[in-house]
Amino acid sequence: MSELIEPSIDQASELAGEQSGEQEKVNLLGLSRAKMEAFFLSIGEKKFRAEQVLKWVHHHRVDNFDDMSNVSKSLRERLKAIAEIRGPEVVSSHFSEDGTCKWVVRVASGSCVETVYIPDNGRGTLCVSSQAGCSLDCSFCSTGKQGFNSDLTVAEIIGQVWVAARYFGNVPAKMDRSITNVVMMGMGEPLMNFDNVVDAMDLMMDDLGYGLSKRRVTLSTSGVVPALKKLSGVSNVSLAVSLHAANNELRNQLVPINRKYPLDQLLEAIHHYMNSLTDSKRVVTIEYTLLAGINDQPEHAEQLIALLKDMPCKLNLIPFNPFPHSGYERPSNNAVRRFQESLQLAGFNVTVRKTRGGDIAAACGQLVGDVMDKTRRSERYIAARQI
Ligand code: SAH
Ligand code: SF4
Repeated sequence: MSELIEPSIDQASELAGEQSGEQEKVNLLGLSRAKMEAFFLSIGEKKFRAEQVLKWVHHHRVDNFDDMSNVSKSLRERLKAIAEIRGPEVVSSHFSEDGTCKWVVRVASGSCVETVYIPDNGRGTLCVSSQAGCSLDCSFCSTGKQGFNSDLTVAEIIGQVWVAARYFGNVPAKMDRSITNVVMMGMGEPLMNFDNVVDAMDLMMDDLGYGLSKRRVTLSTSGVVPALKKLSGVSNVSLAVSLHAANNELRNQLVPINRKYPLDQLLEAIHHYMNSLTDSKRVVTIEYTLLAGINDQPEHAEQLIALLKDMPCKLNLIPFNPFPHSGYERPSNNAVRRFQESLQLAGFNVTVRKTRGGDIAAACGQLVGDVMDKTRRSERYIAARQI
């Protein structure tokens, strides 16, 4: 390896947010436009190479430098020595009768995470994971019960879009029809992996990436207030907030992060984010998982109406998707309808999320992957189940 290249590799590895090392190649899949430009400048190449390579990686989804026909042979050889395009390893693919697809992919930490594609009425929504497991331990969420292993890298997050897009075919026009929306609602809490999630979402919206509009990329959070405030300055994606209870006592039990950042702070942070968007017509989506007998009673609907009276929002009710020994039950369809109607009567726009991909365990809250738990929470959970 020439002396000219060696320091550049280190610089570029840092750009990729990965540990630098003599052997380590920079994974170009994880570089945002700014970081790709900086990478090419750091190896003495012109900035426009970034545009060429981003298109090869995300529009054509190649993983081989030899396919990059408008890049000179000498640069291709140089890139082969210092860089790579490496998507997450697909461990298994599952296809539901209703058109839902699920990919289980292995990430560098050794854990597996899940990505789900949901076609619906001309839309194709990809639900992307941000962490292997989740540290926040919401009481009704199977991902939370797996404990936590690692944050995903930018390449591992955008790599899920890349894997799904490759499945739909390497023709941009076709791909555009296939993945129309991305929601950060897979495994993990996206705001706990802030920088990597922001870079990956930038690639989703970049014309040289997947070209999705800011309205079609949604970040869902359980309410990590300081990170939500920080997001106001750096992103303009659509926001969804997992509320699940409109009083602190109940929310403390269901969503433990509420003990740190209670409802008044959360509402203030939501207002702050929504006010930072230049497009005044946008509203926050409030997600509310309905748990039978826990948060689905008339008084809960009343509390929700009072809490959200000044919040421009739409509500998305998610009837609980059961998993073994969760301790919770899904409300009846009638109970869901009653809850929906009481909110609608108060003037809210309320949808009920359909359960999709139930036959391949791809429904909301059912994603478990294979998390090499560092927290020992999964062990404790399994032990408690056996009592
Ligand atoms: N960590 C983020 C995003 C991932 S969870 C968040 O909490 O918002 C995506 C959505 O699924 C959240 O609204 C979450 O509360 C909900 N969810 C989790 N487990 C569920 C279950 N078993 N049934 C229905 N919805 C669930
Ligand atoms: Fe984590 Fe979201 Fe599950 Fe809560 S609901 S444990 S924040 S993934």
